[in-house]
Amino acid sequence: MKRVFNFGAGPAMLPEEVLRQAQSEMLDWHGTGMSIMELGHRGEHFKKMAEQAEADLRELMMIPDSYRVLFLSGGASTQFAMVPLNLFHDKKIANYIDTGIWSKKAITEAKRYGQVHIAAQSYLENGVWRVPEESAWNLHADAAYVHFTPNETIEGIEIHATPQTGSPLVADMTSVMLSKIIDVNHYGVIYAGAQKNISHAGLTIVIIHEDLLRELMPPVPTLYSYQLHADNHSFYNTPPTYAWYMAGLVFAWMKQKGGVTFFAESNQRKSKLLYQVIDQHPAFYKNAIHPSCRSTINIPFNLKNDDLTTLFLEEAAKNNLSNLKGHRLLGGVRASIYNAMPESGVLALADFMRYFAKKYGS
Ligand SMILES: *Cc1c(COP(=O)(O)O)cnc(C)c1O
Repeated sequence: MKRVFNFGAGPAMLPEEVLRQAQSEMLDWHGTGMSIMELGHRGEHFKKMAEQAEADLRELMMIPDSYRVLFLSGGASTQFAMVPLNLFHDKKIANYIDTGIWSKKAITEAKRYGQVHIAAQSYLENGVWRVPEESAWNLHADAAYVHFTPNETIEGIEIHATPQTGSPLVADMTSVMLSKIIDVNHYGVIYAGAQKNISHAGLTIVIIHEDLLRELMPPVPTLYSYQLHADNHSFYNTPPTYAWYMAGLVFAWMKQKGGVTFFAESNQRKSKLLYQVIDQHPAFYKNAIHPSCRSTINIPFNLKNDDLTTLFLEEAAKNNLSNLKGHRLLGGVRASIYNAMPESGVLALADFMRYFAKKYGS
């Protein structure tokens, strides 16, 4: 058997310890004589597991009691609609910060339900992308909410500070939830598809302040209501049970390793190492993001000689460094280094990048 270092952006690498535990529990979960996939979600066994997973997530992120945690399906993309459908009511305008492809998808969806005001947009200057300083954001004062994407998974652009806004702050944290310390108190809604840093595909976690819960009117489908899911503890219909269970294993693994602080520090070291190699070979590699907003989690870069990209990817794969191909819209290379990517994987990639630049650089 061989395990590679998987730098894919999502579905992404999971911790080997977690996969082994899931494997060992596959046929007989906790003496039930069946796999957890085969358990009814309303039974005592599943309920206990589900509650423990939520309790562990609350502990990891220090989520206050005034917030509900929802375990939903539909992916982060469904949240692009659920957010406006639930948060637009008397106010029908929302501020959106446009920093990349995922922001734009959220914006396109929100426009179907209300007015979108683009308060700030990333821009290209001297060949590098940057996000305007928060003081330069042109926020509409009387908006229902402010939506932003703290980490643009595709471009590798991150807003490192938490914006201070008058209206409720909504964040698509699909690629950063649990990878750094955040203060939940600053947010109205946090959502994340699980397949990047939390579990496998199929689960979406929503953390929402209870003041934002309200009843929705037809023709909005029942299942698009946050309040409905909150009232039913995410058991209105069948939740993605196996993904919920895997998330629970990941939360327990994180706690045992030292919680979010441990991973935040490790992710800082990991990203620093890769940016260092890129910056030390300016004639060979290039990352097109201003240092102030470089992502800690998704590190895209190009080879100055693009003809070498295919060879780079092939040779990397031979060295067990997999899924480094950049997003189909951008090309180049992208290393996604979520919590499950050990520092040894990033060290191996950094070594390979140095070797490759030396071998093929002029
Ligand atoms: C991956 C990703 C999405 C899309 O998630 P789905 O679960 O496929 O809908 C949305 N936003 C961000 C920031 C992402 O990284």
